[in-house]
Amino acid sequence: MQDAQFAPMRTGRLFDQVGAFLDAHHLSPDPVHYCFAFAVVSAPGSALARRVAELTQGGVRLKRLDIEMLGGRVVGDGAVELARPEADPIDDRAAELVEETQNQVDGFAKMVRDMRAETQGFGRDLERSAAAIFRVPQIAEIDAIASITTRMIARIHDSEVRLAQATEEADALRTKLVEARETARRDTLTGLPNRRAFEEAFAERDADAGPYCLAVCDIDRFKRINDEFGHGVGDRVLSAIGQAIAAECSPHLVVRHGGEEFAVLLRGMNLVEAADLLDNVRATVAAKRFRNRDSDAPMGQITFSAGITAIQVSDTVETAFARADRLLYTAKNSGRDQVSAA
Ligand code: GH3
Ligand code: MG
Ligand code: MG
Repeated sequence: MQDAQFAPMRTGRLFDQVGAFLDAHHLSPDPVHYCFAFAVVSAPGSALARRVAELTQGGVRLKRLDIEMLGGRVVGDGAVELARPEADPIDDRAAELVEETQNQVDGFAKMVRDMRAETQGFGRDLERSAAAIFRVPQIAEIDAIASITTRMIARIHDSEVRLAQATEEADALRTKLVEARETARRDTLTGLPNRRAFEEAFAERDADAGPYCLAVCDIDRFKRINDEFGHGVGDRVLSAIGQAIAAECSPHLVVRHGGEEFAVLLRGMNLVEAADLLDNVRATVAAKRFRNRDSDAPMGQITFSAGITAIQVSDTVETAFARADRLLYTAKNSGRDQVSAA
């Protein structure tokens, strides 16, 4: 049974429920706490809300640590910010919409182009007919026919101009949609491709390219960087490490898979070669010496651990990741700053 202090959360308006939640957990009503509370009470069936319910059973109050563990992060003064969601269903829906719209616009552009071609052909025929009519002066209604024909020709010209505009607009829209599609596959913090791009590349593996391997790289003790230097610095370090991994692994695909984790799709490499490459990347990153840009203070060594596995033909992205994740766990448990392959 749930504690009485949470009873108001089950009734009343969302606004009251958010207030009751903040009250119950002694959280100040600043916007970031509101975000967290809103995320919990507005979606009571969500994984986050279920975890909060588990943690707070019996009237236990949420602590900063609990909120961080649930994906929030403390950003000074006890304020809490929700971490970027790993896979946002709204993002997925947006990507689907971009795709659907892209197809519709392609269809529309083709239709406009066809209409334009037909109209141009019709306009030419009409002009030829008009010229023929004007050459036959003895027909009685010639003036009326000539005037109707002249108006029709003017209208056709008008339609051509409008169709040319519509074609331009459809093309501009198509360019924007291509950009939107690109954006939906890119991580904004690091500029690297994201999980969606990885899943597509995984699904489109080329059977003639030889073996593929998957590596999952996770920065070691990254929480320490945030705790010691703040999230702004943490973000910059995250971005620098991601870009270093991408540069060292080039031309293989490196994506930010979520949080402080990067995935690499190694194409045309067997496990021994791929593990070797990854270990060199690991050593290169470990040899870098980062300094805090603002204070110039050294930040110590920053390393990552990796799990790497050969992708089987029968693998789905999930089964391959599950194996690479287990190997990553082994690398972490064996002391970090190492690559575990199998
Ligand atoms: P481990 O070696 O076991 O991986 O330790 P860790 O501290 O890296 O792992 P843990 O999972 O405990 O913490 C990951 C941290 O990464 C906590 C989270 O706040 C931080 N993080 C995730 N995404 C971002 C981000 O976009 N920016 C910043 N600054 N930090 C992030
Ligand atoms: Mg980590
Ligand atoms: Mg991690």
